[in-house]
Amino acid sequence: MPDFFERDIKFLPGVGPARSKLFNDELKIFTFKDLLEFYPYKYIDRSKLFQICQIHADMPYIQLCGKILSFEELGQQRGHRLVAHFSDSTGVVDLVWFKGIKYVLSRLKLNTEYIVFGKPAMFGGRINITHPDVDPASQMELSSMGLHPSYSTTEKMKKSGLNSKAVSKLVETLIDMMNGPFAETLPLWITSRYALMPYDKAIRTIHFPTDTTELQNARYRLKFEELFQIQLNIMRYTSDRRRKLKGFIFDKVGHFFNAFYNNNLPYQLTNAQKRVIKEIRKDTCTGAQMNRLLQGDVGSGKTMVALMSMLIAVDNGFQTCILAPTEILAEQHNANINNYLRGLGLHVELLTGSVKGKRREKILSELEDGAINILVCTHAVFEDPVHFCRLGMVVIDEQHRFGVEQRSKMWTKNTIPPHILVMTATPIPRTLAMTLYGDLDVSQIDELPPGRKPVMTVHRFEGSLPDVYSFVDRELEAGRQIYFVFPLISESEKSDLKNLEAGYAFLTERFARYKVSMVHGKMKPAQKDENMLSFKNGESRILVSTTVIEVGVDVPNASVMVIENAERFGLSQLHQLRGRVGRGADQSYCILVTGQKISDTSRSRMEIMTSTTDGFEIAEADLKLRGPGDLEGTQQSGIAFDLKIANITKDGPIIQTVRDLAQEIINADPDLTLPENSLLLQSQKRRSGFVFDLSYIS
Ligand code: ADP
Ligand code: MG
Repeated sequence: MPDFFERDIKFLPGVGPARSKLFNDELKIFTFKDLLEFYPYKYIDRSKLFQICQIHADMPYIQLCGKILSFEELGQQRGHRLVAHFSDSTGVVDLVWFKGIKYVLSRLKLNTEYIVFGKPAMFGGRINITHPDVDPASQMELSSMGLHPSYSTTEKMKKSGLNSKAVSKLVETLIDMMNGPFAETLPLWITSRYALMPYDKAIRTIHFPTDTTELQNARYRLKFEELFQIQLNIMRYTSDRRRKLKGFIFDKVGHFFNAFYNNNLPYQLTNAQKRVIKEIRKDTCTGAQMNRLLQGDVGSGKTMVALMSMLIAVDNGFQTCILAPTEILAEQHNANINNYLRGLGLHVELLTGSVKGKRREKILSELEDGAINILVCTHAVFEDPVHFCRLGMVVIDEQHRFGVEQRSKMWTKNTIPPHILVMTATPIPRTLAMTLYGDLDVSQIDELPPGRKPVMTVHRFEGSLPDVYSFVDRELEAGRQIYFVFPLISESEKSDLKNLEAGYAFLTERFARYKVSMVHGKMKPAQKDENMLSFKNGESRILVSTTVIEVGVDVPNASVMVIENAERFGLSQLHQLRGRVGRGADQSYCILVTGQKISDTSRSRMEIMTSTTDGFEIAEADLKLRGPGDLEGTQQSGIAFDLKIANITKDGPIIQTVRDLAQEIINADPDLTLPENSLLLQSQKRRSGFVFDLSYIS
């Protein structure tokens, strides 16, 4: 007999095969434990009684006490319904049933006191309550008048009678079957230090709360535990990795770094850049493998940090590579790096999907014999056998664009893993970063190079496009360059492409005096390069594009970014796009153009974009608007973000607490072998299979 918690849900009385399939398919509930941890998403207060004269159609679920004056059957066929005119001393309201009419009529009597519970709505100018719960007032016990749990179920489940009430009943059955208290899952020293409700009480209270204070304590306990177990899991894993994994030792800063620093560095590093380079330098000489995430807003100068770190690797006799998510970006990095390293005698090569034939073969063999020092590449390098001679460091640019698998392939390239520097301009809010990355080292460039003026951002409706164009005219006259971006959600969407092409045709005509180029993902790489280059060297003055320019493209003379259908972009995408301008010394502008009618969420996004240029603020706002599951970067991070009760956005303080606690435990007892931690070891073992790969590979 499997452990009580692991028993198949179909064996719970009242479930059976059909309902168990629904539980599996619709809610991913397979075991008793899954059901036990399927917590109500809200509670309805049944301790309050309203008077009929107080109710209006906007109210949530409410409760009334009164008598039925009369019944009436109305309507034909699908409109056929039973109406009960229900009254207390203050007014009359209609109770309506479309189904189960016979049953209702057989059960309910006139002139008997009932408690009615339901959601008021307006219908035909009158307030009514459809399919209410009706119970004789005499039978309503005080206890059942408290907080009632609501479980979210799907349409399909409801059709089979598995509504919130039925789920609640099943949970009750399950808890009754338990026949005794649920075993405590946290050590006593933790529950007492943080004054946590015992697990048994928390589980019972969360499903059947007696009052709001108890409910809050139960929720706190369960959130605490959920976040704590995750945190402990990550920390055990990372501490383990740290103890076991060896890393190359870069013990000197040598010729190339110094020569570059003294002769080629085109500007002064910002303090933030200096600090991060120091952090990386410190990591790479310890003998452990570096695993560092570098967050820095768009335009903060991450590339330079990457380049100088790579030079340290080269100085220590290693090869390095930098991975970019798109060919355009890889080409740009290649051009920039070659330019920066001019005269230093280093061998830098570009390897992308479009490098083919003899040239590719030559690069592959030069990688293998060590002739190449720095490789700039796209993920295409993983698609066929690329062998480095001595790969010492890998930089992954715009990491949120890569999938977990792509990144993990880097590991198969060496016996000793290379140092990894992952860079992103999509800042992850602190709370989320803590949950996702545990104690992964995070560096931040929190300072922009001097002289940058914040991009001025405005929101305009389509109707004002003519004004936008006149503004663009003036900027063009002043010698500036302009981006026009159109949405292309999926590169295969034909209608979007047409939209882009129509936009291009229109703009070519509207700005006939200037050369207009276009780039999009469907284009032949050679064509794309040519058009991009034309914009980069200033020959073409307007670039019409999709989000292929979202990451990394650097044209300092471009001062205006016009984003069409801005309502179709996510916040972090808009922020990335905006980062393409404001790179030179001139005032730059970002104009978000939307349809006349947009949703509230879109409107909020526009407001956030126009009110701040701070990437972290935007990321926080994005998290609030979308919830963590949807957040760009977490989706691709490969983590099924299925917290059962905690909320990353709202539970920051708990995250902080459990993180400190987990750290304390791991420092003192990394393998959880002390007797006071035996419960933790048990629950961690139960979590096996739930491993945060992310901390391993990024
Ligand atoms: P991102 O962090 O978005 O990748 P980049 O590395 O592309 O930013 O840098 C943006 C621009 O800022 C580039 O034109 C780069 O040459 C310039 N830059 C970087 N660091 C500095 C600095 N310390 N001073 C002046 N300009 C800098
Ligand atoms: Mg960049």
